[in-house]
Amino acid sequence: MKKIAIYPGSFDPITNGHIDIIIRASKIFDKLIIGITQNNKKSPFLKINDRVKITKESLKNINNIEVLSFDNLLVDFADKKNVQVIIRGLRAISDFEHEFQLAGMNKSLNHKIETLFMIPSEKYANISSSIVREIFLLGGDVNLFVPKPVENLLKNNLTK
Ligand code: ADP
Repeated sequence: MKKIAIYPGSFDPITNGHIDIIIRASKIFDKLIIGITQNNKKSPFLKINDRVKITKESLKNINNIEVLSFDNLLVDFADKKNVQVIIRGLRAISDFEHEFQLAGMNKSLNHKIETLFMIPSEKYANISSSIVREIFLLGGDVNLFVPKPVENLLKNNLTK
């Protein structure tokens, strides 16, 4: 049986921290789905189509990756895609409580799907999409934190 994992998130936008996790997870699984949540409730910074596009462009060198958006329950989407493992990133203790809760709820909803936590390399541990957005909106340079396609999109001002 093929080992398939999903790395879900809003990826608003994808950062070098996400990519660090993706590269490492893609080596462990036969296939890795990057599941981008539409996140309509959180009123996203970037439109879903733009997030999918720049995520695909940023990961074009990795073969066993599929970038998809979804707007239903994560475990239902994962089940439909024959996913056995949900990957989440843990940067700091502050991530832990929320992630612990999510993993527990997902386990209750579908006991066949495991959640696996991965820790980024130290140099990416402080990067978050929300800080990238803030730096960008305040006129700062985000090129240290995001891949080129994200930088280009932000520079072209396609933010809404
Ligand atoms: P969500 O809104 O679901 O938290 P994000 O796109 O912010 O979506 O994050 C997706 C996953 O990636 C989460 O598990 C988050 O903790 C993790 N993550 C975000 N930034 C980093 C980073 N710099 N290093 C490692 N993991 C990260």
